[in-house]
Amino acid sequence: MKLGDRHVHSRFSCDCRTPERDVLDAAVKKGLKEICITDHCDIDMGPDWYLPVEEYVTSWEKLKKEYEDRIDVHIGVEMGLNPEYNDKIDEYLASYPFEVVIGSVHTMQGDDLYFRKHYDYDDREYYRIYFETVLERLKNSKGFTVFGHMDYVVRYGYEKGASYEPELYAEHIDEILKEIISRDIALELNTGGLRKGVDFVHPHAYIMGRYKELGGKYLSTGSDAHFADHVGAGLGEAAKLMRSFGFDAGSVKPL
Ligand SMILES: [Zn+2]
Ligand SMILES: [Zn+2]
Repeated sequence: MKLGDRHVHSRFSCDCRTPERDVLDAAVKKGLKEICITDHCDIDMGPDWYLPVEEYVTSWEKLKKEYEDRIDVHIGVEMGLNPEYNDKIDEYLASYPFEVVIGSVHTMQGDDLYFRKHYDYDDREYYRIYFETVLERLKNSKGFTVFGHMDYVVRYGYEKGASYEPELYAEHIDEILKEIISRDIALELNTGGLRKGVDFVHPHAYIMGRYKELGGKYLSTGSDAHFADHVGAGLGEAAKLMRSFGFDAGSVKPL
């Protein structure tokens, strides 16, 4: 199963320095046939995280043409979901016909999860609050075609996967998956956690199993690369996970 990489960052994300050509040259070298650039737009994390749409699109459209004989380049965005900022989010999404819009939850209780300022909670409580936050944000957000790294929070757990038992959050997980399924949104298989000390491709196999049982059909795959070396990383693992739950290449919608 030859999968594309539909979650890749470049210098337009404030946490990434990789020039556009380095991303594409790495993808071609790895033999990828399809890539979708999905730079960050996280309105709730402040202006540093706003995507400069015009400059971004101008640059990527030019490269899309230049590389068309070597690889299919698509232009998307990773939008941080937060209903408090829906007006601004809508404005961004209306400004360009992004081919993939990954909706992600990177913050909770006003903080970027990356910095784990939630000292008062042990991992189990921290993960529980995350799933509650995800459900609330999903229900009140729209405009995205893929739901990104569903159990992303585990990357920032003190004990990461060792303290993660997804069954403890079964009720919220089911609600989240039902929301995704009823809206024909694709669930993302994100291999980024493998490079952050998480020993599985997001989402955990338990969640994949529930997705299948509840009738989930659509998937999207991505490395979440912030460095050229990571473009296409882990897609073989993602393919294995897909196959083990009876999904095939047809589960990934063509762009
Ligand atoms: Zn993300
Ligand atoms: Zn990302």
